Amino acid sequence: MSLGRKLFISYLVVILVGALVMGVSTLSISPVTFARHVESMRDMMTSMMMNTGMEQLELELNNNFRQAINSTLIIATAAATVAASIVSAYVTRRIATPIQQTVLASERIADGHYEERLPVYSDDELGDLTRSFNRMAAALAETEAVRQQLIADISHELKTPLAGIQAYMEGLLDRVMEPTPETFEQVQREAGRLQRLVHDLQELSRAESDQIKLSIVPCEATELVKATSQWIHPQFEDSGIELRLDLPDKSITVLADHDHIRQVLLNLLGNALQYTPTGGQVTVGWGQRGGAVRFFVRDTGIGLVAEDLEHIFLRFYRVDKSRARASGGSGIGLTISQAIIRAPNGRLWAESAGLGQGSTFLFTLPLAV
Ligand code: ADP
Repeated sequence: MSLGRKLFISYLVVILVGALVMGVSTLSISPVTFARHVESMRDMMTSMMMNTGMEQLELELNNNFRQAINSTLIIATAAATVAASIVSAYVTRRIATPIQQTVLASERIADGHYEERLPVYSDDELGDLTRSFNRMAAALAETEAVRQQLIADISHELKTPLAGIQAYMEGLLDRVMEPTPETFEQVQREAGRLQRLVHDLQELSRAESDQIKLSIVPCEATELVKATSQWIHPQFEDSGIELRLDLPDKSITVLADHDHIRQVLLNLLGNALQYTPTGGQVTVGWGQRGGAVRFFVRDTGIGLVAEDLEHIFLRFYRVDKSRARASGGSGIGLTISQAIIRAPNGRLWAESAGLGQGSTFLFTLPLAV
């Protein structure tokens, strides 16, 4: 039942209780008060009837009747007021308590107690308010947890290359290590990892605060795929992995930010290259699906289990942490790619039949009309 209807019925109940108490009290008190007044008039009536006549008697009767009614009404009104007040207090408490609880809980949340939740008592607007409050509290708690996790992740990611650089430098200073080109290359590699990480973090922060500036223009789907694969082809050759193109004959134009889509394709192709053993194959292409074009990067690599398919788009998530860190992966690439694809309402997802079965990454872009 809605809160408005409840309030209306509550008022009605209060009025009815008041009227009922008033009626019952009047009915039960009036005979008593009236009898008392009649009793007090008995002697007077006899003498009056004999001495003063009918007129005086009527006047006295009227007076006493009015007094009887007045005292009955005073007692009945007092009883009705007390009864209506008790019912009003009960009704008000039922409505005010959840609101007071919500106020107190919001103050506690403002003080940083994000675990605060409210019990849901009813199915009306107050129940809705409590439910939305609990949802908001849960969202805030999650944001806070993500923020804390992010700080922990970033410090952890920065620590590893920094510790590497420090160890090499100490080794060189203590002359435990030779200042050979290999040593300097190692230091440079660690510094490169730091630089990549900082660059990725900047991209991530832009992506997550919806600040990616996309300049969406009509782009030729085949040209997008060809340009990106040409760029990365030498790396595939070096690793002994075949890069195939699967492109329809027809030409189709999609609405996209050319540079950002290239960045997404490069991320997907780079991952496919990284997670596919030598001798494997990676296929990149597109196909039309209704009003959208679906791009895909399919590999014959290590594959993904169902649980990881959902998590790999979370920032800093890596399936095999030690392996990815050794190869420089920070687990941010797919998060950024997803933000880029989602910005113009696209979708990026992964499919895999399981470990060792390869994986396919797909994303959609709208057709240019
Ligand atoms: P990273 O820089 O670590 O590659 P990404 O965000 O690009 O970060 O990928 C997140 C994780 O998803 C990777 O660490 C890896 O575990 C998994 N992953 C991504 N692409 C593939 C793929 N083609 N095959 C298997 N696992 C993959």
